[in-house]
Amino acid sequence: MVDNYNVDEESFSIKEQFGIHVFNDDVMSDRLPKNVYLSLKRTKEFGIALEPDVADVVANVMKNWAIEQGATHFTHWFHPMTGVTAEKHESFLSRNSEGRVIMEFSGKELIKGEPDASSFPSGGLRDTCEARGYTAWDPTSDAFVKENSLYIPTAFCSFSGEVLDKKTPLLRSMEAVNAQALRILRLFGNTTSSRVTATVGAEQEYFLIDKKLYDKRQDLIFAGRTLFGAKAPKGQEMDDHYYGSIKSRVSSYMRDLDRELWKLGVYSKTKHNEVAPAQHELAPIFASANVAADQNQLTMDVMKKTALRHGLVCLLHEKPFASVSGSGKHNNWSLTTDDGINLLEPGKTPHKNIMFLTFLCAVIKAVDEYPELFRISVASASNDCRLGASEAPPAILSVFVGAELEKILEALESGALIKKNHREELMLGVESLPNFPKDTTDRNRTSPMAFTGNKFEFRMLGSGDSISCANIMMNSTVAIELKKFADRLENANDFSAELNKMLSETVRDHKRIIWGGNNYTEDWVKEAESRGLPNLRTSVDALLCYDDDKNVEMLEELKIFTRAEILSRQEILLENYSKRINIEALTMIHMAKKQILPVGIRFVGELCDIIDSKKRLGFAEDCVELRMAKKLSQLNNELDIAISELESEDSKAASIAGDIKRQAAYYCESVLPAMEKLREIADEIENIVPANMWPFPTYSELMFNV
Ligand code: ADP
Ligand code: MG
Repeated sequence: MVDNYNVDEESFSIKEQFGIHVFNDDVMSDRLPKNVYLSLKRTKEFGIALEPDVADVVANVMKNWAIEQGATHFTHWFHPMTGVTAEKHESFLSRNSEGRVIMEFSGKELIKGEPDASSFPSGGLRDTCEARGYTAWDPTSDAFVKENSLYIPTAFCSFSGEVLDKKTPLLRSMEAVNAQALRILRLFGNTTSSRVTATVGAEQEYFLIDKKLYDKRQDLIFAGRTLFGAKAPKGQEMDDHYYGSIKSRVSSYMRDLDRELWKLGVYSKTKHNEVAPAQHELAPIFASANVAADQNQLTMDVMKKTALRHGLVCLLHEKPFASVSGSGKHNNWSLTTDDGINLLEPGKTPHKNIMFLTFLCAVIKAVDEYPELFRISVASASNDCRLGASEAPPAILSVFVGAELEKILEALESGALIKKNHREELMLGVESLPNFPKDTTDRNRTSPMAFTGNKFEFRMLGSGDSISCANIMMNSTVAIELKKFADRLENANDFSAELNKMLSETVRDHKRIIWGGNNYTEDWVKEAESRGLPNLRTSVDALLCYDDDKNVEMLEELKIFTRAEILSRQEILLENYSKRINIEALTMIHMAKKQILPVGIRFVGELCDIIDSKKRLGFAEDCVELRMAKKLSQLNNELDIAISELESEDSKAASIAGDIKRQAAYYCESVLPAMEKLREIADEIENIVPANMWPFPTYSELMFNV
């Protein structure tokens, strides 16, 4: 079975093949007239609008290039609030005045599209009668050709200008953090950097299972996760899968995947087995936040499609299997200037260290002041299955900085750190920062937000999440803190005294968010509570905070969202939460009624037949068949009751559709427990019924078959 899936061993040159399907800078400088190329470059770097005649030239060159790549269509590729990307394909086909076929693509078509937006969630932002929305090209993310279409990364807005997607606010938040970070840089005497970019590397976890087995499970098909399933005899307790030798079937999948991604210009870099059986990870080299977001969506799409070619299914659900780890995504984030300075790099000179500490303090303050927004950025029904389950950070935000930095922050708080020397230069009052051990051994793996040497790693994201939301919140919250810092410092009479005071106050007021211990323990939950840190256990708890005044004020001030847009997002996310649980509940009811209960009943019947025969022969007293039949019959009854209860809870939830907040809370508080109850009984039945009668593949088969 294994070897059938090996891809060809022909040599593959990464250097030659990398980005061959991408309309990247090389292609542009090669093919565009010099002046057009320069003007497009300005648009890319400084967001200056493209002149219509320039757009026409770019469009034409892009079309010809795409046709050479085998494209017949183009699509404006966008990220609506559904959580997945959307694409509508138009062919280049047109008819000239003589009625002949020509291939056409204008600047207007490149820059702006008008998809019928009525079926995308808008959270009440616009009525379906005025359904028009438009997509606008994001020239900072390269177009590419995939499956015979030219993909043009775009932002998606309504005609009245409200954002309907995840990209627009991400771009806005990148602008905000750029503007504020530059102010801080200037205050520290930097005159050379002209742009600060949020950079992101998203590590992506996933499961691979056999397609033939997948097809037999309705829960995997409809919900993306198993809703039933008794524990397999073996899970991840032996720690033998993490970084283990990669099986050849998986390895050939990974090789194929890498090649596809490289051709699409994704810097896929690292691959390895993860903790749970059948679980793996892929990490790319970081890129600017919006490109990383686009590429992560693209990566997830290519992962799924490549799996199918290998007879596999790639599961991106946060918790496909109970009892083993689920899948997350780690969002590595930093700020980098256009001349190559990583603002979270401690550096070697004390002067640079103080600037680094200022940025570090801004991130610490951001997380402590807006923990709800970070939690909201990863909120979903599926991620709730994983957060706090001793495999992922709990729903409490905290920041890990490491013991050395903690010491330095203490010194900052006491005011002893920053001094002026005789030449009036800023100096550290204590020795310069020790070198940070960057090897993984020193890292706290349980922290939701860990400083890892020169970047922050936000680890609460679910594997299926778009990384846009997390980065919108990272960028905006850090931008607002940098803004407050800059306002204060720009107006100071004595810069270094003010800086000293400001950083000292920041550490004093926000050190409660710093935590270097194990985040997976009950002790931390208690400790966090005593520190006053919010624990938003469920997505509903989190989402209800979205429109808190402090969040709205901040997001409006930075022009990321208007209040109306926040309310619309809150509504969409709560509705999405309810819909997902409703689908899961209905799937469970269906499987329990049509598959599990009939099998349970049938086996009781078979046992009773045996008991009857035994009775006739006179030795049925207290036999195993009788004990099993009694037990199973009892469980069947309980299952039947649990099905009815779930049906009743689910229809109660459905009946409060008019009140989205109350409905989501009802799904969370009443429907989920009814689902758990039903599962518990079904899993017990699975443990009694013979394997050959069980109606769908078991955990052992699913997790240990690839
Ligand atoms: P680990 O698994 O130990 O967390 P990896 O090396 O697998 O670390 O992943 C680290 C990720 O962080 C990679 O995607 C890498 O490109 C990214 N990264 C490195 N430097 C930066 C940076 N300055 N900004 C954003 N991401 C970064
Ligand atoms: Mg990591």
